[in-house]
Amino acid sequence: PFGTHQRSMGDTQPANLTPMLAQYLGIKAQHPDAILFYRMGDFYEMFFEDALKAAPVLEVQLTCRDRNAENPIPMCGIPHHAAQSYLQKLLEAGLKVALCEQVEDPATAKGIVRREVTRVVTPSLVGDPDLVSEDQRPLLIAICKQAVGFSVASLDQMDSELRAGNLPDERSLLEWLTANRPSEWLIQEEISQASILMAAKSHFPTVAITLRPDYFTGDKPSLGAIKLYLKETQKLESAAIFENPLPLQLPNTLLLDGTTVRSLDIVPISRDQATGHSLFEVIDETKTAMGRRHLKQTLLNPSTDAARIQQRLDAVEDLFESPQLLEELRQRLGTLRDLERLVSKVGLGLAMPRDLLAISCVQKVLPDLTVRLQGCHSDGLQAIGQALNPLELLTDELVRALAEPAPATLRDGGIFQPAYHPEISSLRELSGNAKAQIAAMETSERERTGISSLKIKYSRVFGYTIEISKGQLSKVPSEYIRKQTIANGERYITTALKEFEERAVTAEQRLKTLEAELFLELRAKVALQAEPLLQNARLLAELDLLCSFATLSRKQSYCKPAFHAENHLRIEEGRHPTVEAFLPAGKFVANDLEFSETAGWTWILTGPNMGGKSTVMRQAALTCILAQCGCFVPAKAAYLPILDSVFTRIGSSDDLAQGRSTFMVEMAEISRILEKATPRSLILIDEIGRGTSTYDGLALAWSLLEYTHQEIGAKTFFATHFHEITSLENQMPGVANYHLQVQKWEDSVVFLYRLSKGTCHRSYGIDVAKLAGVPEKVVERAKQIQAVLEGQSQRGTKTRSKALGITQNQLDFFGPA
Ligand code: ATP
Repeated sequence: PFGTHQRSMGDTQPANLTPMLAQYLGIKAQHPDAILFYRMGDFYEMFFEDALKAAPVLEVQLTCRDRNAENPIPMCGIPHHAAQSYLQKLLEAGLKVALCEQVEDPATAKGIVRREVTRVVTPSLVGDPDLVSEDQRPLLIAICKQAVGFSVASLDQMDSELRAGNLPDERSLLEWLTANRPSEWLIQEEISQASILMAAKSHFPTVAITLRPDYFTGDKPSLGAIKLYLKETQKLESAAIFENPLPLQLPNTLLLDGTTVRSLDIVPISRDQATGHSLFEVIDETKTAMGRRHLKQTLLNPSTDAARIQQRLDAVEDLFESPQLLEELRQRLGTLRDLERLVSKVGLGLAMPRDLLAISCVQKVLPDLTVRLQGCHSDGLQAIGQALNPLELLTDELVRALAEPAPATLRDGGIFQPAYHPEISSLRELSGNAKAQIAAMETSERERTGISSLKIKYSRVFGYTIEISKGQLSKVPSEYIRKQTIANGERYITTALKEFEERAVTAEQRLKTLEAELFLELRAKVALQAEPLLQNARLLAELDLLCSFATLSRKQSYCKPAFHAENHLRIEEGRHPTVEAFLPAGKFVANDLEFSETAGWTWILTGPNMGGKSTVMRQAALTCILAQCGCFVPAKAAYLPILDSVFTRIGSSDDLAQGRSTFMVEMAEISRILEKATPRSLILIDEIGRGTSTYDGLALAWSLLEYTHQEIGAKTFFATHFHEITSLENQMPGVANYHLQVQKWEDSVVFLYRLSKGTCHRSYGIDVAKLAGVPEKVVERAKQIQAVLEGQSQRGTKTRSKALGITQNQLDFFGPA
């Protein structure tokens, strides 16, 4: 219904162009890639394409302006006071928002109110930490192609961490991107179509992208791009951090690409898609928001540094074995607010008294934590204890300064304790004790004048007045000045009363100004210690992570894995951490699993549909991931190598938006795995080649398996229903067949979920179809056809197929019997 505006906002001027619309279009033209929140009174309005794009994300009604005009203008709006939650939704969808405010008072404006964009909020530059959910870490990344390799930079606005450097090639770029998981990219236009970026982008579906050729200039082009972008969007002159960017944190981490993170369900893709089933959600036992974010980051970037992993495991063991200490630490952690976000609020000038109070509450707990941690056995816990910085001077000052509870805003006063500043108590006395002083004055005036009904009252218009009822007016002293007549008497003022009033009011104002000034000074002092405070936040997050791992491990009877420098892998009585959590206690069937010279490096896994193949493969991968995070694992024992990457090709989905069919996506994933995998990789392939003709699929699966086994030498699970492939066990050393047991019982099947050597020769697909409720008629007919196909080789195909009404072509499709 909205005709031409859908594509041509800005360049086609609507016929119904009012001054306001003209202003809107002028501002919008400067922010073409952001949704413009155009302030009109108590609302932010969106028009044209912005409205069409935002309304469904915000779940608000799309309406239109000038309904009867030839081209009605699509619009939608949100109340200004609720902007926060709407902004969050747009940011999560990877959109940017330009906040356009009224910058003059509508009451006095001549003509149309002047409006300006005061700030652009983007998925990585949110400004206010309250706009991002507590487990998110918004990161801005800039990428620029160099003569050799890439110049890259990243900014985490929440903790002002800026990193910059060069990456030599595409592989290292992809690794760096996957380890950092950006929420927003700035890229040079000329590399925007590069295959590496297309591949990376498909892993981060909601990443916001800005293509700006003009951003990338100078020696450190990516850093420059971030600087410009920050200036443009936040209206900030560049911060001091740009002088000394940190080097890139080269990932000493296990590579988990976006596909793997999704298919292993390691963390929810977005808040909307939180299922409660992801590894992160199931194992999270953290007590603080800092710990929660750190856990998520750790699961996405497990370590490959043997010493670091061991240090964590030893610390977890220490806590695991001291349940009382663990409980005490968790109790204390449970009281801590999000130090990292609080400090970033201080840095952005957004911190209120309650935020500084919260910082002081965190700091106060540190000495006690240090004492406890220094008494521990493990190096890891001791090191945290030593590194926690009590910042005594600052903490003492905060504790001495701030009153509890803290007022919500600076205007409310009551921020400080009276002893903090000599003037505060006298000013408070003057302003705050007004009531008592008035009562005293009332009594003395009554006595002096003999007017028993004399009352001192306060009104907004007249301030303090002395009220005298009609019957006693004759006793009013001559120095009383009449101010107002009321129904049952008169109101007067006196010089003394007015003097008192002035003192009280001035004192109150002076007090507010003084408190606000002192607060800003105090906040600036905290800002000076931002670095050590953030370091404390990181240490607390690490402590929380270790406690979370230890708690989980105790609750779920996990064991400490043992790492070795060799390549073999053995898990005894392993379980799947999340599948197990959703089954009744004791129902999960544990399995042993080994990759080695004797047990095989490539496992061909067969078994019925629903038999537990995917579960077994994923549990091995998740066990390795947890272990490299430094967590105990769901098993009786685990002997593990350090993996450098886990790859998965599981399930099917298409990517029609990018013009790729299911089969194409599957093949693209495979080619990426073949390119990146190493002998230190674990590869999970669950059904490959099913989306094409049987022979094509079988042939592809077969040659793929040969390649991963012989050329790459990775540890590979190869789950398949192509039973022909199992013959490879006899042809290639190191390939072994395993299957999941199933029992036929009466007319149905029973899944045992038990892993054994050898092959399962049937897939029981028809039985599973029946369990799933496929109509009896279809099931019976399928059984008939199956019998024919299986009998094909012995009997004349033609006659049989004719009897069933199947053509030779259709039979060929099923391949040889
Ligand atoms: P398909 O071939 O159809 O993809 P599959 O063999 O991969 O099936 P899974 O998806 O692994 O089967 O498992 C199916 C279900 O069986 C799981 O969702 C889980 O409920 C149950 N299951 C799997 N493994 C176990 C186990 N070891 N113990 C108990 N239940 C299990």
